[in-house]
Amino acid sequence: MTALLSAEPRPVPVRAAVPARAAARPDGPDPAATRRLARGLDAVRHGFVLIDPDGGVAVCTAPARALLERLGLHGTPSFRRLLRLARAGSGLSAREILGSLGGRSVLDVAVDGHSVQVEMHDVPGEGVALVLEDVSLRRAAESRAHDLARLDPLTGLPNRLQLREHLDAALARLERKAEGCAVLLVDLDRFKPVNDTLGHPVGDALLRKVADRLRAMVRAGDTVARIGGDEFVVLQAGVTEPGEAQALARRVVDLVGRTYMIEGQLLSIGASVGVALAPADGRDADRLLKNADLALYRAKLDGRGTFRFFEPAMDARMQARRRLELDMRQALARREFQLHYQPQLNLADERLVGCEALIRWHHPERGLVSPVDFIPLAEEIGLIVPIGEWVIRQACRDAAAWPQPLTVAVNVSPAQFTSDRLVETIVSALANTGLPAARLEVEITEGVLLQDNEKTLHTLHRLRALGVRVSMDDFGTGYSSLSYLRAFPFDKIKIDRSFVAGLCTGTDPGTKADGEAIIRAIAGLGRSLGMTTVAEGVETPEQLRRIRAEGCTDVQGYLISRPLTADALLSLLAAAVPGSPPCRSPS
Ligand code: C2E
Ligand code: MG
Ligand code: MG
Repeated sequence: MTALLSAEPRPVPVRAAVPARAAARPDGPDPAATRRLARGLDAVRHGFVLIDPDGGVAVCTAPARALLERLGLHGTPSFRRLLRLARAGSGLSAREILGSLGGRSVLDVAVDGHSVQVEMHDVPGEGVALVLEDVSLRRAAESRAHDLARLDPLTGLPNRLQLREHLDAALARLERKAEGCAVLLVDLDRFKPVNDTLGHPVGDALLRKVADRLRAMVRAGDTVARIGGDEFVVLQAGVTEPGEAQALARRVVDLVGRTYMIEGQLLSIGASVGVALAPADGRDADRLLKNADLALYRAKLDGRGTFRFFEPAMDARMQARRRLELDMRQALARREFQLHYQPQLNLADERLVGCEALIRWHHPERGLVSPVDFIPLAEEIGLIVPIGEWVIRQACRDAAAWPQPLTVAVNVSPAQFTSDRLVETIVSALANTGLPAARLEVEITEGVLLQDNEKTLHTLHRLRALGVRVSMDDFGTGYSSLSYLRAFPFDKIKIDRSFVAGLCTGTDPGTKADGEAIIRAIAGLGRSLGMTTVAEGVETPEQLRRIRAEGCTDVQGYLISRPLTADALLSLLAAAVPGSPPCRSPS
């Protein structure tokens, strides 16, 4: 062993092949046994070489010879040549290699695309045993797996992991050179409906085409990656001024937004893009991606199909939103929500028929927050489910205490229909408060019917089976309100207040005529379908007169009453003498 450990390997004699030295040692084992052992080792897939303490090769099995030949080491190996090879393959010095031979050491020797793993075992008194294994295939598979783990299988584009590597590399270059880079976060508009209605194969084909278009529009040093369902990132390298990123962002919006032909169908989607620039908007990958995301959020708010550059103010807005979110999460426990009730009047007998429950948030610092300012966020983050449950329970509790059997209407968001708890919540609220089901009304907007129609309709039918009424809110503002009236037998249609407002404020006689025609049409539709029609947002006697003339059955609006606190409503109801109209029509 000591001879082996000398710093530079000395020339060692070339020995005969298997088994060479074993037979020559007088005190060695039985040569016949050694030969048998060597033959046995020939059958082992791994190569085996035993180098004796003098540096000579004592044993070299057939697989070992084959492997060494593959590495370009023809003929009988000597330890010196093996060592030289190991040094070339591993980059270690001879001393380092030999020094590591205390117990066991593994070296990877790669030559001409072949990879051989050499395991060296110190065999005290016998020299060094080498176990050789061809790991070329395994290494190739590992490298393929490494590549695959960094590719998106659908489009063949780099995935988030590989994007990170490219981005880190680009940012490292930034430190050395004076050129920046741009991160363009691309989100497809209207992809989900295509995927949901035309099926996943079409959705997949569409994503591949988008990937092709993006790939085609970038330069050699740029990266296009797919980092989520319909989210892509273009990493633009070597950006010296924002105009370059702007030009690319504009091209992305334009080209991705052009029509696609898939399976004989013409499809149209759009792209929203958020752009962050390095180093101005961040010097690390996380910050850049986050800022591009904030810019993307802005682009979507601004109507989609456009791009926005990150601005520090976006971060501030986002933080404000996050604070609102945190506050809202605590508001339920802190009992900061309250329900107001807005009466609805029947025009035929001028009696109150019901009230709509409208949520209010008394924020300790912000004061009264309007539902328009927090319901959308609550819907986005799923908080509408517990808030909505509270609304249902509270509205049932309040209504059960009213002196007259008025209906109470609650607004129910699409997200509440997605959660399976809606029917259960309503059943338990009715049971706990004793409110008859027929006095509860749920108001839904078109958004509810736009999602998972089967399931939603099933839920609506279950509610109807309980005796709960269902109204269509904000009728006429959606795309296909009419078709939804066919899909479900609503009890009530609430005509959106924009049509009512158009009745009298319109200086343009054309708008006014349109408003009237629409209200007349909806009222007629309601009559023939046996549905109540409520005009929302009635503010003036003139509006009321027109609405009555067009044949709506009910009205709701500031003219009748503003939304009232539960107590104020109770006073109003108590003041009404039984048998006479509790609220006179102000017409
Ligand atoms: P909505 O369901 O269409 O409710 C009617 C809205 O019109 C209410 O606004 C009401 O105060 C307002 N309004 C009533 N009469 C008049 C009028 O004569 N003139 C004008 N200009 N406005 C009138 P509010 O209370 O701010 O609620 C806004 C929206 O917030 C509601 O629209 C509803 O979509 C949503 N919302 C309110 N409470 C809840 C709730 O408990 N749950 C859910 N999911 N949404 C709610
Ligand atoms: Mg409503
Ligand atoms: Mg409405």
